Amino acid sequence: MTAHSAPQVRLRKGRDAAVQRRHPWIYSGGIASVEGHPPAGALVAVLSAGGDFLAWGHYSPESQIRVRLVSWEEAEDVDAPEAWRMRLLRALALRRHLGRDSQTTAYRLVNAESDGLPGLIVDRYDDVLVVQLLTAGADARRELFADLLGDLCRPRTLYERSDVDILEHEGLEGRTGGLRGEAPPPRVDVLEHGARYGIDVVAGHKTGFYLDQRENRRRFGQTVAYLGLGAEAQMLNVFAYTGGFTVAGLRHGLGRAVNVDSSADALRLGQENLRLNDLDPARVEDLVGDAFEVLRQLRRRERSFDAIVLDPPKFAFTQRDVKRAARGYKDINMQAFHLLKPGGLLFTFSCSGAISADLFQKIVFGAALDAGRDIQIVGHLSQSADHPVILTFPEAAYLKGLICRAMP
Ligand code: SAH
Repeated sequence: MTAHSAPQVRLRKGRDAAVQRRHPWIYSGGIASVEGHPPAGALVAVLSAGGDFLAWGHYSPESQIRVRLVSWEEAEDVDAPEAWRMRLLRALALRRHLGRDSQTTAYRLVNAESDGLPGLIVDRYDDVLVVQLLTAGADARRELFADLLGDLCRPRTLYERSDVDILEHEGLEGRTGGLRGEAPPPRVDVLEHGARYGIDVVAGHKTGFYLDQRENRRRFGQTVAYLGLGAEAQMLNVFAYTGGFTVAGLRHGLGRAVNVDSSADALRLGQENLRLNDLDPARVEDLVGDAFEVLRQLRRRERSFDAIVLDPPKFAFTQRDVKRAARGYKDINMQAFHLLKPGGLLFTFSCSGAISADLFQKIVFGAALDAGRDIQIVGHLSQSADHPVILTFPEAAYLKGLICRAMP
């Protein structure tokens, strides 16, 4: 296919600067005309208002993000299976060190735009691969990606979990189910820095586990160990999911934990995760409920904790949600500060892309002020390195966190 024979998307005048800076998205508002009736997911040539070739992309007729760019080289045969194979190989090569780490068997193999593969997420859980196809372009190449991943990774199971809300904006229905190999086992057991976790790839959140927090779970374990928080110390894990941070904390010396989550199923798997690590489930108290309410109850009961983790779901989906989300973050952080012992440690996170790291720090500051606590920041956190952020696409950086300490 050449730029002349492919369907063409012509930009409005003055809209090519971002493309030239290699930002991988073209919004519908920047487009002057579309020629050649491209179907959903088709390869299109993107041209400047003057008709010069700018880039190749995949067409999403229903989405505000109308084109996802895949190459800026006119001569590249970007949609050839071999070209996709090379891109997958590159993403895999960048994770080779993870493949050699015998203590970690769960991580992200492909992180969409940042790996030059827009719309494609691939997570590894031991010998099970879970994929998400999140754009019309990726969806149209399901069989190709399944063949290539089957061939390159030889997983026991290749399973699809394209069941996320954002697919609506792409005009896609979403799809879950087996793609290649055996049906997924009810629980896949993985290692993460030596800790064992059971993963439900069929019914769990996202592709089964919050892999973006892997390095932060490790940091949490290391930090409680460095500080010498021992058997008498107690942690509170709010938005605990399957207790990832709890396992990390107890394995590194903390005595007891309270888990809070609205999902009873997630907490149940959290109990199994304790047993998988030879940790006595009696050391952990599970509270099923709304964190906003449970934190207040804990305060009324005059509970206090040596270490707290706050890892809420995304509160802001777009810029319009930022104000409301900021109130939510401020509230839970204020409640957490009330529950923190003098000298205690708070790991607090936001996974909302629309909330910048700077704004998040300001929100946490406001929460400390209202709680009347003097708080130090002793560390800054982000998503794990297998969720890289390509510099041309800063939007890929969504997870931010602070390690805070309450001044005695
Ligand atoms: N820290 C976890 C991931 C947390 S994801 C880990 O390391 O694995 C966010 C969690 O918040 C999900 O498990 C979800 O069930 C839970 N959740 C969402 N809204 C909630 C609410 N209002 N109250 C309590 N839990 C909530």
